[in-house]
Amino acid sequence: MFAKLIGLLDYIDEPNIKKIKKAYEFSKLSHDGQFRASGEPYVCHVLATAEIIAKWKLDAVSIISGLLHDTIEDGAVTRKDIEEEFGDEVALLVDGVTKVSHLKLKGTRTDKTIENLRKLILVMAKDLRVVLVKLADRLHNMRTLKYLPETKRKAIARETMEIYAPLAERMGMGEVKGELEDLAFKFLFEKEYQDLLKKSRQEYKKSEEHIKKMKRALLLDLVQKFDIICEIHGRRKHIYSLWKKLGRKSIDGDFSKVHDVVALRILVETKNDCYAALGIVHEHYKPVPNMGISDFIAQPKPNGYRSIHTKVFGPGNRVVEVQIRTYDMHQQAEYGAASHWAYSEAKSKDAGNTKLEAGVSVDENKLEWVKELVRWQEELKDSEKFLEAVKFDALSHRNFVFSPKGDVYDLPSGATPIDFACVIHTDLLWYIKSAKVNGNMVALDHELSSGDVVEILKSKNRILPNKGWLDFVVTQVAKRKIRSVYNLT
Ligand code: MN
Repeated sequence: MFAKLIGLLDYIDEPNIKKIKKAYEFSKLSHDGQFRASGEPYVCHVLATAEIIAKWKLDAVSIISGLLHDTIEDGAVTRKDIEEEFGDEVALLVDGVTKVSHLKLKGTRTDKTIENLRKLILVMAKDLRVVLVKLADRLHNMRTLKYLPETKRKAIARETMEIYAPLAERMGMGEVKGELEDLAFKFLFEKEYQDLLKKSRQEYKKSEEHIKKMKRALLLDLVQKFDIICEIHGRRKHIYSLWKKLGRKSIDGDFSKVHDVVALRILVETKNDCYAALGIVHEHYKPVPNMGISDFIAQPKPNGYRSIHTKVFGPGNRVVEVQIRTYDMHQQAEYGAASHWAYSEAKSKDAGNTKLEAGVSVDENKLEWVKELVRWQEELKDSEKFLEAVKFDALSHRNFVFSPKGDVYDLPSGATPIDFACVIHTDLLWYIKSAKVNGNMVALDHELSSGDVVEILKSKNRILPNKGWLDFVVTQVAKRKIRSVYNLT
């Protein structure tokens, strides 16, 4: 059983493989005598979770956390045990995954759900690997959902559709999002799923024949005439997103109006090759007027997706979507945040880092993902209809701000750098010289907004905090600290 995981670890060094083996033995022991609904020993589930994580090429700490992710919950192990055996990084991740599992995210969007979602974002912001491990866990649970009783199935499928699939999308993990949605779709709308499965078979077949013809013609040109190294694939649209598209008013169930039932995907080595390939495609097949080319390389989607999409008249005048991207972009489109993490391990010492101040460096990629999460919570906040329905305002009055290291802090609206300083460290109040927000100097009464990166510039020696700060600070902790300096009550 364990051999399959080992087979995936060719990118991990020997000392870490030893640790992974140890984690497997530890997990097996702690789940001894437990079984999954499928009848398999419980350890099969954590192994499958770890295998998914290894396929995403994440680091050893993530794989170990995958193996241990249910030991606190079901295996009567404490966080302290894990810390002693595997160190605090692993303990933090396992504890985070356990906490996320406890948050009730299912069902309707009540104030409680949103509050929990907010907590989820905070847990994730501490270390994004928490959510990657959680997504791997959920993916395996969805793959084996058929073994659970009907009522449980529906609830888990709904939670997957409402929370985890959008989460995967936010993380830029297109392939994971697609699989989660398809699995949830199957259990939530059984009849629709089966119907579409039958109908789509025919359509997939027809489209794939067209794609084959195009592939032959294009390969000949790209490789032989222009010397561009490339791969060309036909890519089937995920069944849930096909269902959604067919449901659009303008399409109304008409397959011939869906142009990417099977899309043609060209993978090349460099960005320049992408544009060269685009030219060659248009030479062979005329672009469809007014449908346009989307250049997500020049202008990536907010979740980081990059690719060129164009719609052309293929064989038989059938409209076909062509997607062109580099191998790198492809890896990122499929595995998003995970591939960033895998990359950042290797790159973190040089290119990926930006110096914000001496001694503190920020991994830009990581910070981008955290900011994306903030944008998500902004959207939740902006959804007026939803807010009206639940009359819940806790979200609209909170700001998420970041330290230069990417740690996230939750501050009330109107909070200033002084509030921030009091929240991050007990003693910092005595060393405030000035403050920067997003790299620019600001006044100490500057109002912070969500997504700001706040940095306190410290003095060498202690400075008496200014009594006047009481006029603008908003957090209780800042008021209390400043008052105590002046013995005010
Ligand atoms: Mn699990």
